[in-house]
Amino acid sequence: MHQSRRSNRANKPKILAARDISSVAGYMKSKDCKNVMMMLGAGVSTSAGIPDFRSPETGLYSNLARLNLPHPEAVFEINFFRRNPVPFYTLAHELYPGKFRPTITHSFIRLLAEKGLLHTCFTQNIDTLERRAGVPEEKIIEAHGSFATQRCIDCSETFDDNDMKRHILQKKIARCVSCGGYVKPDIVFFGEALPEIFIRAVPNLRKADLLIVMGTSLTVQPFASLAERVDDSCPRVLINLDHVGSFGSRSDDVALLGKCDEVVRDLCKELGWDDELNQLWDETEASVITDKQPVLKVNSEEPSEKSDTLKEIEKQFASLDLDSKDGNNGPSAENLTPGPPSESKDKAAALPPKSVTATENKENAAGGKVVEEKLEVPAIPPAENKLL
Ligand SMILES: [Zn+2]
Repeated sequence: MHQSRRSNRANKPKILAARDISSVAGYMKSKDCKNVMMMLGAGVSTSAGIPDFRSPETGLYSNLARLNLPHPEAVFEINFFRRNPVPFYTLAHELYPGKFRPTITHSFIRLLAEKGLLHTCFTQNIDTLERRAGVPEEKIIEAHGSFATQRCIDCSETFDDNDMKRHILQKKIARCVSCGGYVKPDIVFFGEALPEIFIRAVPNLRKADLLIVMGTSLTVQPFASLAERVDDSCPRVLINLDHVGSFGSRSDDVALLGKCDEVVRDLCKELGWDDELNQLWDETEASVITDKQPVLKVNSEEPSEKSDTLKEIEKQFASLDLDSKDGNNGPSAENLTPGPPSESKDKAAALPPKSVTATENKENAAGGKVVEEKLEVPAIPPAENKLL
């Protein structure tokens, strides 16, 4: 492996001028680079403060231990969830996406989309920070699912987004309006199939003019194998703390080692995009919510500068806890008073066993089309199906 990593050092790259950051930037600004594919792992979100629950050092495992789990992974096992959804809901409460701000790296992905360069962003992360940073939904493939949607584990009936937010933030177990079954975010649990949308998107990797792999150990299959699916001639850029996977084995592999946010800033300087990057990242500050109420820092000087996506998010959050308010103008500084961040550490035992919320019945989204094209990658063995 080490041999193959070094093997490209002897030869000149074929597409890039050199295997360095300015050559990558130069290529990205050229006519040849039209379709950028991205692969993201947990390292992209760690600077947002999202703990890696696999790491014993974060203490998240010990937090889970007090919930009487037979083993930590049980929190993501469907059979355990069916018997006892409390640990998962507790974890969901702690990890709830709206509590964390997207990173500068997430804003970089949005910038790529705004420049018309982003084809697809494949992510292993379930934190939805790509969406929250304003990356267009149709460009994002959440390989392990996400908190963005949810459904009943028994009848697959979908469940209202805002109701789900309310339940998780209030540590209540959501139950299906139709059958009373537990509602679970569409996160891939151990042993569950990967989303169809992921399977369908994989062949698109052949269209890549550039692959950027960020913040992943490239150890979780089949996700890791995506890096091998771009054409041999396609430049591949690794932005990560360490050298991983087969990077270095191809002529136009570039490893930019370091923290994702720092490397992204350097790359954007080379591209001359640093002001735009900062502007997009500034916008993400307003999207953070707390347990109790939305905290929206409204920029009173130039509210019209906000993106439609951000406005939409704010509107959703406004309707989340301010039911009496008509959201037609979006939130303003007057009606949304920022409160102190709440570090609620209530015991999971405080969770009420049932909380049925009345919502409109919706069409069952689970009865989608069967995909004929099968991905020739092995199913994830339960032990390797890590979610963060
Ligand atoms: Zn149901």
